[in-house]
Amino acid sequence: MLNFSLTPEQEAFRQKVRAFALKEVLPVAAYYDEKDETPKVVIRKAYEAGLINLDIPQKYGGQGLGLLESCLATEEMAAACAGTATSLFDNSLGMEPVLLSKNEAIKERYLPKIAKEFKMICFATSEPTMGSDVSAIRCQVAKDGDSYILNGTKYWITNGGLADYASVFATVDPKSKHEGICAFLVEMNWPGVTVGRPIPKMGQRCSNTVGIHFNNVRVPLENMLAEPGKGFVLAMKTFARTRPTIGAFGVGAARSAMEHALDYAKKRRAFGSAISGFQAIQFKLAEMYQKVETARLLTWRSAWESDQGRDANVSASIAKMYATEAALEVANEALQVFAGYGYTKMFPVEKILRDVRLLRIYEGTSEVQRVILAGYLLGAYQPIMPALEDLPMHREVDPLSAEAGQTAWRCRMCGHVHYGDEAPEQCPYCFFPKTAFKRMGQAD
Ligand SMILES: Cc1cc2nc3c(=O)[nH]c(=O)nc-3n(C[C@H](O)[C@H](O)[C@H](O)COP(=O)(O)OP(=O)(O)OC[C@H]3O[C@@H](n4cnc5c(N)ncnc54)[C@H](O)[C@@H]3O)c2cc1C
Repeated sequence: MLNFSLTPEQEAFRQKVRAFALKEVLPVAAYYDEKDETPKVVIRKAYEAGLINLDIPQKYGGQGLGLLESCLATEEMAAACAGTATSLFDNSLGMEPVLLSKNEAIKERYLPKIAKEFKMICFATSEPTMGSDVSAIRCQVAKDGDSYILNGTKYWITNGGLADYASVFATVDPKSKHEGICAFLVEMNWPGVTVGRPIPKMGQRCSNTVGIHFNNVRVPLENMLAEPGKGFVLAMKTFARTRPTIGAFGVGAARSAMEHALDYAKKRRAFGSAISGFQAIQFKLAEMYQKVETARLLTWRSAWESDQGRDANVSASIAKMYATEAALEVANEALQVFAGYGYTKMFPVEKILRDVRLLRIYEGTSEVQRVILAGYLLGAYQPIMPALEDLPMHREVDPLSAEAGQTAWRCRMCGHVHYGDEAPEQCPYCFFPKTAFKRMGQAD
């Protein structure tokens, strides 16, 4: 049965996050963006209000909510400030490899601390020399007794400057590509861990982004999240769980851009009337709305699939790709509605535009989502239509007529259909020989 409605609990949760986002996030967003600083006080308040770490199972002290609830919360937070939302929900990204890990002891040791002691955890696959190509990780570990020694640099790490822990992906041998990738939970105060300066960014300036350097960091064996050869799959499974949330970032930010444009269009006057009276502006608003609604449907669908325990890899890619590209288009068109004022920092749309630009880049670029979807289409996808050579496409003979009883042969090169007991010696259209014809079966 198909059901698009939220449960009363989910709706109440959405209202709770919305109220928080409007009261605590929205009023400080422009200030922290200007300062290029993460509002740590807001993260703490969100933690205390139970609005982050939603997915920690109850047995580890968490709320045990699903990905759909996470998407509801993300949409509301991102509608107020996509940068702050990135920092708020980065714990879920950092925690996902722990949740997916087979190492039960590590869950029991760290998840309660994240749930109950306001500990933060970041996620680190990317490096200065690689982002999309996770198999090209250079951060290296070498076994030493009951520990691994970690060396190398991670880059672009959200909340790296605030976090207590990091889920770090490394390799035992860079030449062995996927087969060498492993993952560890690293404590950020261990000797040899150095955090770089915050990276100055175009947008999402309310989220902290840094490099992290590991110099002979001793990581105990019990902190292994995935053994060598299993880390790559763990990273991919993590993304399948977190990409719907990135879709929700797009939905929230686009919704706000649309609402700001709607408000402005009703008030701004040109040529003697409100600009909302011009069909050119109305069509922009209509398309924005269509994109927001479509993006939300795709996001919810992939989150729902994941919560059902299904493989959501494909739907997560679709949601991430569509919602983030839609968000950029909506924010851009919203700025066009504001025109000159939109281009200033006095109105909110230029910040939204800067913030949403990142969504097409992190957690798998738009191009990488296309690679994933093309790989699926060319591999596991099961078409409904018959193959072209078997397509019952009778242009010259009415399939219901008397001739329909004859055998039909289709030229695999040009598509010509020949009727008769035998295929022709040569195709009358493309001159390919008899062997080019395939028996289609009876014309009816
Ligand atoms: C603000 C910010 C926060 C981030 N937070 C984190 C974080 O917390 N943790 C983390 O690990 N990483 C993080 N990242 C890194 C992010 O995930 C990478 O930037 C992203 O995966 C792209 O990698 P790259 O920048 O190295 O681009 P590259 O991989 O070098 O790609 C460059 C271009 O080539 C294209 N390309 C690459 N491969 C293919 C292909 N096979 N087919 C077609 N096109 C291709 C890309 O789409 C892109 O357009 C963050 C990045 C930013 C900017």
